[in-house]
Amino acid sequence: MLKLYNTLSRQKEIFKPLKDKKVGMYTCGPTVYWYAHIGNFRSYILPDIFKRVLIFNGYKVNHVMNYTDVGHLTSDADTGEDKMEKGARREGKTVWEIADFYKKAFEKDAVALNILKPNKTPRATDHIKEQIELIKILEKKGYTYKIKDGIYFDTVKLKDYGKLANLNIEKLKAGARVEVVEGKKNPTDFVLWPFSPQDSKRQMEWNSPWGIGFPGWHIECSAMSSKYLGKQFDIHTGGEDLISVHHTNEIAQSEAAFGKKPWVKYWLHGAFLTFKGEKVSKSKGGLTTISELEKIGFSPLDYRYLCLTAHYRKPLDFSLEGLANARNSLQRLKNIISEIKDDKKTNKQYLKKFENAINDDLDMPKAVSVLWELIRDKKAIGKIKTIEKIDSIFGLDLLKKEKLETPATIKKLLEQREIEKNKKNWEEADKIREEIKKMGYQVEDTDKGPKIKKINK
Ligand code: AMP
Ligand code: ZN
Repeated sequence: MLKLYNTLSRQKEIFKPLKDKKVGMYTCGPTVYWYAHIGNFRSYILPDIFKRVLIFNGYKVNHVMNYTDVGHLTSDADTGEDKMEKGARREGKTVWEIADFYKKAFEKDAVALNILKPNKTPRATDHIKEQIELIKILEKKGYTYKIKDGIYFDTVKLKDYGKLANLNIEKLKAGARVEVVEGKKNPTDFVLWPFSPQDSKRQMEWNSPWGIGFPGWHIECSAMSSKYLGKQFDIHTGGEDLISVHHTNEIAQSEAAFGKKPWVKYWLHGAFLTFKGEKVSKSKGGLTTISELEKIGFSPLDYRYLCLTAHYRKPLDFSLEGLANARNSLQRLKNIISEIKDDKKTNKQYLKKFENAINDDLDMPKAVSVLWELIRDKKAIGKIKTIEKIDSIFGLDLLKKEKLETPATIKKLLEQREIEKNKKNWEEADKIREEIKKMGYQVEDTDKGPKIKKINK
């Protein structure tokens, strides 16, 4: 029995899909104006793990994740510049070029992290027609109004607006003395179709029944999810910062347009990856990417292991020491596992324990401890087959025999060390050896030159 914490009800619930064993799941994808950082990827490892847990439980999952390539403004409150146009200016490229580039970069990192590819990955700019159609429905039903800078959604028309975040609308109204957008009726109203500015030309803009403009950030998710998953579906995921504005507004639009309540049955939100207690964020310049971690000697799966060691609803504070510990643990696990002989059996007892952990609101730290218990249990049978099942959730390649490839940074350091050794700068050479050691590799000098080995602490 799978239990999940549902943000909508603020409690753990028994998971029961709308239609027998078929599950529809939507994940708010990245805004492709820059590299996705490791914080973003914490929010994509979560639906991946969840999807694997659903499959483990016998469900068939239809997973849709969008790419936001238009309309996400620098402020969630409908003000500021379009992040995509800003990214294009930063790099002197077109918006379309940067969208393609960062979409590919995201996909590459996702593959390296063993994130299973969603069944569909629609792009917002490929669904302009669907978004306009949806706004037309909202207009017909009386939920919209027009002001100088665009078409807005009137949030007071919905009695339960803000239910996901438990927003106190009265308090919000009282607090908002100066409205940032002129003409907006209520502080919580949001834009569906912003008009292009009068004084400058946007790279991305389209004709619509209301004038030239572009879709607001929220409407794309309602339009694309309904196209690929229907007007009501099971699961919606995202990072916790999406609850109060983006997801609240997705619900408002969709429930107003489709008339199904609840529009989505289960809302799953992941806590942040933090650094020294602060949210890792692109706007604050906290840009650590998977490739950057690789450059300093970590594998993407070291990061995946690190994410598994914290519960998804708790913040995870990132540090290089923490990541190095994760790398050591993963390496140790793999080394121990590589020595186990397969007896072609499954250990039902451990598998049950593991299943109980993953089905208790995806308790991965507990599940990881079950794996350690199993491999340390000298009397346990059926280890390999059980680990295979466990790794279908973890996605850590626990049974894959790896060829040790020397990371580029280590190669450079090794070359440098050889130069120092040739110059008989022993102290300098030792320093480099220490540096390499800190990155998790042991240098051994052999007749055929230096060899490296991953350290198994
Ligand atoms: P964005 O590309 O800004 O639209 O964000 C993509 C996803 O990353 C969203 O689900 C965010 O909630 C999530 N996210 C952003 N920062 C963090 C963080 N520090 N930790 C975890 N998730 C994050
Ligand atoms: Zn979304």
